[in-house]
Amino acid sequence: MRVEVISPHGFCAGVESAVKKALALGSGAFCLHEPVHNDMVTAALRRRGAGIADDPGEVPPGATMILPAHGVAPRVRREAEARGVKIVDATCPFVERVHRAARAFAEKGLPVVVIGDAGHDEVAGIVGEVEDCGGRAFVYPDLPPSGGIGVVCQTTADVDCVARTVSELRGRYAVEVMAEVCGVTRERQRAVKEFKGDALLVLGSARSANSRRLCEIAPCRAFMASDMAEVRRLDLSGVETLGVTSGASTPEDFFNEAVEFLKEGCKEER
Ligand code: SF4
Repeated sequence: MRVEVISPHGFCAGVESAVKKALALGSGAFCLHEPVHNDMVTAALRRRGAGIADDPGEVPPGATMILPAHGVAPRVRREAEARGVKIVDATCPFVERVHRAARAFAEKGLPVVVIGDAGHDEVAGIVGEVEDCGGRAFVYPDLPPSGGIGVVCQTTADVDCVARTVSELRGRYAVEVMAEVCGVTRERQRAVKEFKGDALLVLGSARSANSRRLCEIAPCRAFMASDMAEVRRLDLSGVETLGVTSGASTPEDFFNEAVEFLKEGCKEER
């Protein structure tokens, strides 16, 4: 079996910055949700003494709460600040851009359609932004009956799927669009779609939307592994060329260890 590293891989700039902010605060600080969807990162934060709060109400007054890279609804920040919680904002600038666009559409009176995973924290944050200024948000395929709409998307959605959905919506509504998948995600998806081997391994957590997406769009059979135990258990029999990549929240140490392990396995085959 040949192992082919597919680049880019490892942390994106948004994740890198969120993790640095969270690690720097360390003991006594709380991350609202996981700052990024990765168990290794969460474990490293816990070792530094940081807490993970599922709900902002769990953070005591006077403590510091870090907002996650995928953002939150404005109400979450306001309510925490009103209780005396200090906020460190680790929202990725690309997510902030989507929030601004969604808000601008809502302030013009347009219902806002969000293309993304209903129930994902990033989508909940975008919907919260729209509702904060009295607008109406719909998570596709939920749609308003007719008229004009503003369309935004989750930053880690499938680029091709977003383009198809926007085109479909243009046939039914007067559409204003700011639906851009972030550059990092676009680049990873392009590299995966161009991969010519017969199997793809995506290193990352099943809770990471951008990692899952890489598996979904793979042009060949695809596996996911979130730690070395899962990598060791993979059944790669019959694979001739294995592509290896990772989601934007996967630590590079794990990526390198997994690739080294897989390449060692190849040497033993010879
Ligand atoms: S995947 Fe894109 S939007 Fe998400 S944190 Fe990274 S750069 Fe930001």
